[in-house]
This record gives sequence, structure tokens and C-alpha cells, in this order.
Amino acid sequence: MSQMSKVRRSTKGQRLRRKRIGCLVRQVQLLLLVVTVAAVALAVFAARRRESPGSATGTPVPTTTQSPTPTRSPTAGPTITPGGPTLSPTPKPKRLGILSGHSGPENDPGAVCPDGLREVDINLAVSQRVVAALRDRGYEVDLLEEYDDRLSGYRADAFLSIHADACDVPEASGFKVARVSFSAIPEIEDVLVECLYQEYGRITGLPRHDYSITPDMHGYHAFLEVDPQTPAAIIEMGFLGADRDILVNRPDVLAEGIVAGLLCFLED
Ligand SMILES: [Zn+2]
Repeated sequence: MSQMSKVRRSTKGQRLRRKRIGCLVRQVQLLLLVVTVAAVALAVFAARRRESPGSATGTPVPTTTQSPTPTRSPTAGPTITPGGPTLSPTPKPKRLGILSGHSGPENDPGAVCPDGLREVDINLAVSQRVVAALRDRGYEVDLLEEYDDRLSGYRADAFLSIHADACDVPEASGFKVARVSFSAIPEIEDVLVECLYQEYGRITGLPRHDYSITPDMHGYHAFLEVDPQTPAAIIEMGFLGADRDILVNRPDVLAEGIVAGLLCFLED
């Protein structure tokens, strides 16, 4: 009986041991499972984290860096760069000198009609309109007096002295333009003279009266004072006698003709 009980006890002990081992194995298996699950979960989380900064911030980042920056920088670049070079030549506008014949402190009336009509007043009315029209077009214009201090060595893209002709030749009608006799730039000054003949004649309808040009006109004092490289001319807009109506009543038309002549020279 005691041996039997010993055997039973031993089998009982073996069963218990097996049970414990089985329990331990199951615990180890469970632990392994938990560890693997945790490892897989960690791996998945890590993979998502790696993806998420690329996809979450990546979507706005490429759209902001790719679409506005590349499309704007090339379009903004070329539109600004050509604006730069085109601006640099424009800051220097062309300069013009307009001398209003006989004006100034000398109180020289120029030609005078028996009824008191004075050349100096007609010259000034036209000169002021010419200056205003040229300034409107962006030119830098000096309105000069007959013996202006600025005339000495005066430099400009063009110089024009504006006068009107005598009153005591009732049959004479028309206008004339002249330059200095001994010009340093004859070809250029001839273009200025020809432009004034062409445009002033076309706009005012007045005939050319160039056969009455006197040596005084070619040797005009201002021609000898301004810089020899300044293209200079003198215009006699018409006769106070026969052309009185247009000289007194249409200064706008006379100014328009002179401006057109100067622009023909300056812009063509
Ligand atoms: Zn005069």
C-alpha cells in the first residue's frame, strides 16, 4: 500500500510538475505573443509617423513651394528686370530752349503796327503755348528771354527763337525759318529747319517766305551764344500786316505748328 501510494504520489507530483511546466510554457507563449504584438504595433506606429510628416505637411509644403514660388518668381523676375533697363534711359528727358523774341527787361517791342500791335506780345503768347505743350509731352523746356543769361554756352537737344515779321510790308505774307550761316552741325540744323518748314506750313496753311531771309537772321545773336553743338533755329511766324488775323487770333494753331516741327526733328 505504501509503495502504491508512493507511486500515486510520484505520478501526482509528475502531473503537478507537468501542469506547472505547461502553465509556464503558456505564460511564455503569451508573453512572446504580447511582445510580438507590441513590436508589430510599434513598427506600424513608427511607419505611420515616418509617412505622416511627409503626407500631412508634405501636401501643403509642395503646393506652397512648388506652385506659387516657381510660377511667381519667373513671371515676377522678367517683368521687373525689363522694367529696370527701360527706366534707366527715360530719366533723362530731352531738353529744349524756347526763346520768346524780344522778351525781357529791355522792353523791346520788336515790330510794332501803327495801331500799337506789338510783335513781343504775339511771340510770348505763342512761346508760352509751345513750352506748355512740350512740357506736357515730357520734355524739359526752358522759356528764355531775348538776352537771357542762360544763353551763353546753352546746351539742349534743340533751340528755337520765336519771332513775327514786320507790319510795314502790307503785301507780304508767309513765314520763314533760318539757322546760323556757319554751322558746326549743318546737316542736323538743316533737318531742324526743314521739319519746321514742313510742319508749321502744313498746320497753319501759311506760305513759305524764305526769299526774305536777311543776313541778320543767319547771324542772329543767340546763334553765336549757344553751344555750337545745340541745334538752333529762328522762326518768323508771319507778317504782322497781312497775317495779322492768324497771329493775333490763332496762337494755338501757330504753337501747334511749331511743336509739330520740333517733334518732327526730335522724334523722327
Ligand atoms: Zn523779332
